[in-house]
Amino acid sequence: MTDMTGLDLTRKLIAFDTINPPGDELDCATFLAELLESAGFQITLHDWKRRRPNLIATLPATEAPVRDALVYSGHLDTVPLGQADWSVDPFAGEIREGRLYGRGTSDMKSGVAACVMAGLALAREPVRRAEVRLILSAGEETGCEGVLALADRPGILGTCDALIVAEPTDNRPFVGHKGALWVQLVHKGVTAHGSMPEKGVNAIFGACKSIEVLRGFDFGVTPHPVMGGPSLNVGNMIAGLNVNSVPDRAQVGIDIRSTVGQTNAQIKAQLATLLGDEVQIVPMTDMDHVYTDPETPWIQRVFSVVRDVTGTDPTVATASYFTDASVLKPAMGNPATLIMGPGAMAMAHQTDEYCETALIDPCTEVFTRLGRAHIA
Ligand SMILES: [Zn+2]
Repeated sequence: MTDMTGLDLTRKLIAFDTINPPGDELDCATFLAELLESAGFQITLHDWKRRRPNLIATLPATEAPVRDALVYSGHLDTVPLGQADWSVDPFAGEIREGRLYGRGTSDMKSGVAACVMAGLALAREPVRRAEVRLILSAGEETGCEGVLALADRPGILGTCDALIVAEPTDNRPFVGHKGALWVQLVHKGVTAHGSMPEKGVNAIFGACKSIEVLRGFDFGVTPHPVMGGPSLNVGNMIAGLNVNSVPDRAQVGIDIRSTVGQTNAQIKAQLATLLGDEVQIVPMTDMDHVYTDPETPWIQRVFSVVRDVTGTDPTVATASYFTDASVLKPAMGNPATLIMGPGAMAMAHQTDEYCETALIDPCTEVFTRLGRAHIA
């Protein structure tokens, strides 16, 4: 194990089928738990569901701590393989022309591997003046369910000074991401025979009214210079049983992406006021945005380490997807937060997913240097 590289570890993680749904992270989590425990980490596996643990691995400080912990975080589940056929075995970890193929290579087992490799390096440091923690979650792909379960139990997550979420960014250091608020708007009506529509109340007309209101929806926030403005998409409508009945239920699914300067709670209140009492608003996914001011000293350190390791000058940017940080950041005392990983953003959830093998070691190096500075 001592000669294991980040690439070797990524390939080992790929071999575990953690496709969600249905989701089974147990064997992958147990393997990592044993690896980290043998290096000196204290392990807790928090069962969220049967065979679906969240793994928290803690490397204690060796001296009286001078600052709060540094946390590395990633999810162990992957999305399904999809409808299209793969040209490679998605669990074999095949390498071709500098690319490692497999489900989860980019999203995000290479990122988890970089976190773990950094953790193992830090465990070899004889003097540590702060704690280092790894939070490796289950059930992220279906709406951050694993970390939501952790956050629900007081005292489990603890607090931290800085949080790294190793989602795929092609090794670019992102300072946040938009929030996501997915809701169903439920409109009720009264059914009647299609030949006597005047005897019913047509729920589709209610849904159309809501859609028209949403078409011109003004969030009332100025677009953020880095993250941009919020967006709203009317994604689907489910209504009606047959052509000759008045529909008594119409459901409209909307996808809102929120930005700096607003919270999802505020947006829900705006929607309720605008749409009125007769529309029921049922949240499906509710993740707030994440943002750390790039002038924060820790982010400035991140940028300088990334510059040293990759030779590229980072630009201030945010990710287009949401992450476990939506849950972890507020639950852990609002630490400075970095989204960075070796996976390719464009490869997440794709058929024939791959990651560039050459990006894994530089990411591990950035994580390790940030860790060394933190525990110094
Ligand atoms: Zn992911």
